[in-house]
Amino acid sequence: MRAKIEKTIKPPSMMIRCPGNCGSTLTINSLTFEKYFEIKKDLCEICSHLSFYELLKLILEENFMNNAAYAILDAQQIVILINLTPKEIFELNVRDFGIPENSKILHMNFCGQNAGGLHPLLLHGNEPARHSFDHIIRLYPAEFINRNKEETKIAIMITWVNLTSKEDGYLWDSLLIAIENFIANKYTQCILPANICVEAKMRSVVENYFKKNYADKYFKKYCKNDHDFGYHQCLNHLLPLIVSEAKLPSLEPDIHSLLNELKEKRNKVGHRGKTKDELSKCKTSEYLSAAIIGFSYLRYIEKKLKL
Ligand SMILES: [Zn+2]
Repeated sequence: MRAKIEKTIKPPSMMIRCPGNCGSTLTINSLTFEKYFEIKKDLCEICSHLSFYELLKLILEENFMNNAAYAILDAQQIVILINLTPKEIFELNVRDFGIPENSKILHMNFCGQNAGGLHPLLLHGNEPARHSFDHIIRLYPAEFINRNKEETKIAIMITWVNLTSKEDGYLWDSLLIAIENFIANKYTQCILPANICVEAKMRSVVENYFKKNYADKYFKKYCKNDHDFGYHQCLNHLLPLIVSEAKLPSLEPDIHSLLNELKEKRNKVGHRGKTKDELSKCKTSEYLSAAIIGFSYLRYIEKKLKL
């Protein structure tokens, strides 16, 4: 049977609880990052003792409700209130609620809102899919023993992202892989995708800047050959030069160092399959937070310089 929908709540951005335990609600999107780069605006005004980077790191580590980490990808969230009826299979197509066809559902949560005695079981076909959600949700109303069996109100929370509609969608995808691996406690597998999104974006920003501003003389002025656009050279010499020349804010020294460290770890994983010491959740969240800030910073620089 089709869904009996009571209400849908769809905020413009994903709202998450501040991990600083201050009780405030945070939203993270490209504007949040821009404000941070321009005026060093805190992510949470109450937790101003924690830096933007520290708050991102806490959001990842805590991953409140098992979906908060996706907020840093500019993911969207919707809550749909439904009534589950005894013995009737409930069906809902998420596309009826504005979730686009190309989007990927990252997380779902079902929460009973009254003591109706029914629990929603997510149905699957002959082969249960693992780590993926269909856009059509079918729920079976399992009955609790010794409880009333009557109409039960359920809140369905769906977190989703549409990376294909974004500029640099393939790089966002890389970031998503890093975050998914982080949530699955696969820390070594976070390193390559986290580094890829920063390194690839870095090269494109630096190259486009020199091509635009120095035309064909850019190689002669700054680079002897194409290898001079290597990541190390870009991160440590050319990018600081660009932002200084364009009078734009520079990347914080701590983030800069972490991005250099991330590149070293990337080389270890790329060449040997693993890092020398096992990566901890805490250390990986540092690299991931730095990669997210680094990637967003490069997108901000690109936008400011109209590259
Ligand atoms: Zn706070």
